[in-house]
Amino acid sequence: MIDRIRLSRLHAQEEQRFIDTHPRSGELADEAGEHLLAGVPMPWMTRWPGAFPVFVESASGGRFTDVDGHTYVDLCLGDTGSMTGHCLPAVADAIAERSRTQITTMLPTADSAWVAGELARRFGLPHWQMAMTATDANRFVLRFARHLTGRPRIAVMDWCYHGTVDETLGVLEHGRAGDRVVPRPGALGPQVDVALTTAVVPFNDLDALDERLSRGDVACLLMEPALTNIGIVLPEPGYLAGVREITRRHGVLLVNDETHTICAGPGGATAAWGLDPDFVVMGKPIGGGIPVAAYGMTTEIAEQLAGPMLGHDIDVAGVGGTLTGSALAMAAVRATLSTSLRTEDFEVSIGLAERFTADVADVIAAHGLPWHVQRLGCRAEYWFCPPPRTGAQAAAAVDEELDAFMHLWTLNRGVLLAPFHNMSLFSPFHTTADVDAHTDAFRGAVEALLG
Ligand code: PMP
Repeated sequence: MIDRIRLSRLHAQEEQRFIDTHPRSGELADEAGEHLLAGVPMPWMTRWPGAFPVFVESASGGRFTDVDGHTYVDLCLGDTGSMTGHCLPAVADAIAERSRTQITTMLPTADSAWVAGELARRFGLPHWQMAMTATDANRFVLRFARHLTGRPRIAVMDWCYHGTVDETLGVLEHGRAGDRVVPRPGALGPQVDVALTTAVVPFNDLDALDERLSRGDVACLLMEPALTNIGIVLPEPGYLAGVREITRRHGVLLVNDETHTICAGPGGATAAWGLDPDFVVMGKPIGGGIPVAAYGMTTEIAEQLAGPMLGHDIDVAGVGGTLTGSALAMAAVRATLSTSLRTEDFEVSIGLAERFTADVADVIAAHGLPWHVQRLGCRAEYWFCPPPRTGAQAAAAVDEELDAFMHLWTLNRGVLLAPFHNMSLFSPFHTTADVDAHTDAFRGAVEALLG
């Protein structure tokens, strides 16, 4: 339905508009290109729309201002890192205060006990450890799971994303001889053959999961309760209960990675949907934006880990990190969880995401487009296809040209989407006017595209 020639002409116009209106970002991008690889401090930053990234001056609540003086409605929120809203005053105060008395000593502080208690209350798992990032937390959980079960492989969902954990970067390739696990397209320099470390199963397919786990070589299943990283793919009714039954029957530990699905509520999908995992991983927003993550586990697992945790060699166990659980991080998490990501915060942010979803659905319906918009709590996302059941279906529907155009069009109209697919996230600081700003931009893009 989309005329690709018109799309490419419109895109070129938007590229020029972006360059013309962002002269200072352009200068800084040239400067950054001298000594930063690809002109950015982190590879994903090359994915932003426009000829160069927007350089940010300041951010607050649901907005940020760039170095050219434009203010944006931020629906990316640091890809969940700032889902609380940018620069919470309580977190700023806690960090400032703590940084004058203690930053890192490799000793626990009173805040760490409070944080573990609060995470236990929210997610329903009684024992917690800290990590620096969700990637780290996932790596540590995988190690513990292999240790506990003595099994060599882990299992993940096809087209999942759990951070830069090597063994999760695999997908299923369908061939005449059956499915094989291969490196995910784009994964640089796989360390070993991912088929040796990882079993991959399609989301929403209990028979495939049962068959794969019955082989007895899988230590744990690491999954998001709803896929969020290949668009939002929701679990079908009964799927998650089936996953729990099958994993238990095959002695496979179940790990819920709630790093993104925290958008479902204060205790993520685990609490919102009454799930019963063996481990939960939580990263990104719990420190109000500073790098910190956590993982929780059942009492049964905690008891089995008591031996190694107290052993002499725990410092070389492959779990932990020098700056992890620092006084500064613990103060930030305490301040964040005391003042944010609470039921009352989600009431606001989920309401905004509902409005966003309804408005986008109206525009799609008004133009008879075969697109869809999906929502999970305060996260919403539109795709240029009907709703997929699996990650592979979603991946096959990716439309890079249209994604890139939408991102640039909305950016040029003061709304920042996440640079990956068309994800929008709401904080309690956003307003209905922010939702409407996006809807207007989205409607304008559709009208321009359809001519
Ligand atoms: N788990 C999930 C579900 C994620 O989406 C991500 C990052 N997008 C991670 C883990 C890794 O987070 P980080 O990059 O902060 O380590």
